[in-house]
Amino acid sequence: MTGPTTYFDPTHLDELPAKTADLVRRRIAVLGPAYRLFYREPVEFVRGERAHLFDRDGNHYLDAYNNVPSVGHAHPRVVAAIAEQAARLNTHTRYLDAATVAYAEDLLSTFPAHLGNVMFTCTGSEANDLALRIAKVATGGTGVIVTWNAYHGVTTEVAGVSPSLVGIEGLAPWARAVRAPVPAADGGADIAEAVRATLGELEILGLKPAALLVDTVFASDGVHPDLPGLAEAVAAVRKAGGLFIADEVQPGFGRLGSEVPGAQLWGFERPGFGKLGIEPDLVTIGKPMGNGHPIAAVVARPELTAAFAARSRYFNTFGGNPVAIAAAQATLDVLRDEDLPGNAARVGRRLAEGIRSLPFVAEVRGSGLFLGVDLVGPDGTPDEGFTLDVVDAMRQRRVLLATAGSGNTTLKIRPPLPFDHADADRLLEELAAVLAGRR
Ligand code: PMP
Repeated sequence: MTGPTTYFDPTHLDELPAKTADLVRRRIAVLGPAYRLFYREPVEFVRGERAHLFDRDGNHYLDAYNNVPSVGHAHPRVVAAIAEQAARLNTHTRYLDAATVAYAEDLLSTFPAHLGNVMFTCTGSEANDLALRIAKVATGGTGVIVTWNAYHGVTTEVAGVSPSLVGIEGLAPWARAVRAPVPAADGGADIAEAVRATLGELEILGLKPAALLVDTVFASDGVHPDLPGLAEAVAAVRKAGGLFIADEVQPGFGRLGSEVPGAQLWGFERPGFGKLGIEPDLVTIGKPMGNGHPIAAVVARPELTAAFAARSRYFNTFGGNPVAIAAAQATLDVLRDEDLPGNAARVGRRLAEGIRSLPFVAEVRGSGLFLGVDLVGPDGTPDEGFTLDVVDAMRQRRVLLATAGSGNTTLKIRPPLPFDHADADRLLEELAAVLAGRR
């Protein structure tokens, strides 16, 4: 289950400033106890711009955490596109709409040619849910293999394959979890071996595999940009009749950086990846797709959508409506026009180098503007309390971070993509000060 994190603990309500405490109390009264707030002292933002957020008192925060406003908070081109379409018309996908078809063509042009169809949803959870339905129909299988601390969303089906949400013991009967591929140098696990063993176990139980479903940057498993064994794992699943679903909800839309402008938007395309034959059968995308406007999708091989369509029609009331499409098209245009994947590569590289030189940093992993920073405590071993204190001290200095991985000993750095060198310098300066204070 979810362990201790950087979330606010309501038993400390009385320690908050009076105004904040009042709003938190009213919020819990109406939203109930399942919701979480970040940080020991929750924060209320009223405005955002690029990678910068401002609270009610005008305090200026650096956002090094939020990947959804991917082209920057309140990007004027995305705002204008949403406003223009909303002021004119908003219907749904049961009417012809030229902009929807044009966006689908544009989006698909960024994927390998074999991924020729896109189906729109509102959330990443729905996208994974739909991808699993398609995989199950197309393969006749039901077994799903995921990684140990994976998060794929909140529907009943998808929560059942999300151990970071429900725990290994809460997985659906047809789901199995394997360790994320960690390089041998880190004492890691070979995902291929684990997947082969799991396929054997499913076979004994009479469960045919439908899919291997992985986040291609293993975000909730602690951010692992290297993928030892994944190609073999995919091959083993395919041999057993299953499909490979790449969950690109976190790594997608250029976050991992691209050295060639606009050339690489997807985690499964990382250098060497294609050559390894890890081309997915289905891809799920979401979060940054509409820069905060709800739009997500499944991208699929046409044979798979055909198998699905032979059994079922598809309609999602809000999924891919004209306003959502306007937001998504503007987001994709800005991503390319401002070469944000290139910026992610450049700034991310320098940021990673800077962090490597700081005390208490054991390892910096990552690609582009998605970094996982393993911290160790004063005794040189991973220390959850220490890492959570660092995140909180950074929040007090108005820099937003979080943790990743089941042990909460990895800092997660995943800012809006216009994060520039000055932003990186501010983060480095504050992190250096926080860590220096802990010697
Ligand atoms: N997949 C991954 C890898 C995610 O990180 C998330 C959201 N954190 C989802 C799926 C679900 O997306 P949503 O919250 O839009 O349903």
